[in-house]
Amino acid sequence: MDPADFLAVDDLLTEEERAVRDTVRSFAAKELAPHIAEWYDAGTLPADLPARLGELGLFGMHLQGYGCAGTSATAYGVACRELEAVDTGLRSLVSVQSSLAMYSLHRWGSEAHKDEWLPRMAAGQAIGCFGLTEPDAGSDPAAMRTRARRASGAADADWVLTGNKMWITNGTLAQVAIVWAGTETDDGVEIRGFVVPTDTPGFTATKIGRKLSMRASVTAELSFEDLRLPADAVLPEARGLKGPLSVLNEARFGIIWGAVGAARSCYLEALEYAGQRHQFGQPIAGFQLTQRKLAEMLVGVNQASLTAVHLGRLKDAGTLSPAQVSFGKLANVRAAIEVARSARTVLGGAGITLDHSVMRHMNNLETVLTYEGTEEMHMLTLGAALTGINAFR
Ligand code: FAD
Repeated sequence: MDPADFLAVDDLLTEEERAVRDTVRSFAAKELAPHIAEWYDAGTLPADLPARLGELGLFGMHLQGYGCAGTSATAYGVACRELEAVDTGLRSLVSVQSSLAMYSLHRWGSEAHKDEWLPRMAAGQAIGCFGLTEPDAGSDPAAMRTRARRASGAADADWVLTGNKMWITNGTLAQVAIVWAGTETDDGVEIRGFVVPTDTPGFTATKIGRKLSMRASVTAELSFEDLRLPADAVLPEARGLKGPLSVLNEARFGIIWGAVGAARSCYLEALEYAGQRHQFGQPIAGFQLTQRKLAEMLVGVNQASLTAVHLGRLKDAGTLSPAQVSFGKLANVRAAIEVARSARTVLGGAGITLDHSVMRHMNNLETVLTYEGTEEMHMLTLGAALTGINAFR
C-alpha cells in the first residue's frame, strides 16, 4: 500500500486513471526525480523534455481530437499530481501547455487555429505560453494596458499588438503565445485573445532571473512592439474577461491535483527521515511532537487528495463550478504549503538543502499560492459565492 494514501483514495480511481498514475509515476521516478535538484540549482530544464512528455501523451491529454489523448479530467489531474510530486516546475510546463495554451485554442480558437497548432503541441513539438498578467495588472487583469488595434479602418484589417506581459511561464521556450489584449469598441475596451507565433517581428521574450522559487521552470517577460498579426489571429469565440478566466479555471484544476503530489513527497520524505534520524538516543519519529507533525501531514495530504478526486468527478460530470475550483485551489495549496513547511522542520538543518526535496517544494508552493489567482482572490471568489456580494473592490 502507498504509505501516503492512508484513506486508500486511489481506490476511487478507474483502471485507466490508475494506469496513467503508474506510467507517469514510473517515468518521473526514472527520468525526472534523479535530475531535478541539478535542474533546479541551474535554473533550467533539458531541451528535449517537452518532446519526451509529448511522447508520453501528457500534453492536452484530457482534450478531444487534434492528436490529444481524450482521457478523463481526473486522469489529467492524476498526471499533474505525479509530475508535481517531483517538482512544481514540471507540472507547470504541462499545465501551461495543456490547460492555458492548448485549452485556449481548443475552447476559443477557429478550426484553422486548432489544426495548425494542437497536433504539434500535443506531440511536444511546439510549446505554448499564455500571456495575461502585466507589470501593472496582476490580480486585476481588466487593468491590462496591452492593446490590439486594427491597422486600418477595414473590418478585415490586420491587427497591431503593443504592450508587455509579465511572469509568463514557458515564455522563452514557446513557438506560440496566447496573448490577451484590449481592443477598442464603440462600448469601450473589450478583451480579446490572439494567437501569436513567437517568430513574428516585434515579439521579444526575456527570461526572468534571480528566482528563489520555481527554478525548474522558465518564466519570462514578453513585449510586443507594433507586432502585426493577420485579421484571423484573433480567437473568434472569446469576448471579454470570460475568455481568459475560463482558461484559468482549467489550469487551476491541475493545481488542485499537483498540490497533492508536492505535499505527498514532503510527507514521505519527513516520514523516512524521522525514522532514520536519531537524537537523544532514539529516532526522532519516537517523539510525540514529531508524531503530531507526521499525523497532521498525513491528514493534510489525504484530505487534499479526497478533494482532488471529488472535484475531478464533478469536472468529468460537467458540473464543476468556478467557485468550487477556487475552493479546491485555496484548500489544497494551503494544505500543501503547511505540509511542506512542517516537513522542512522535521528534517532540521538538512531540510534546507537541495539534497532533499522539502525546501524546494516549499519554495515552489509560494509561487503556487500566488499564481492562477492568489489565495486572497480565491477567498474573495468564495466570499462572493457565499454572500452574493462582490468584495473585490
Ligand atoms: P498583485 O495582484 O499585485 O497582488 C499582490 C498582493 O495583493 C497579493 O497578495 C494579492 O492577493 C493582494 N491583492 C490584490 N488585490 C486584492 C484585493 N482586492 N483584496 C485583497 N488583496 C488583494 N501569469 C500569466 O498570465 N501567465 C503565466 O504563465 C504566469 N506564470 C507565472 C509564473 C510564476 C512563477 C509567477 C510568480 C507568476 C506567474 N503568472 C503568470 C502571474 C500570476 O498569475 C500573478 O503573479 C498573480 O495573478 C498575482 O498578480 P501580481 O503578482 O501582480 O500580484
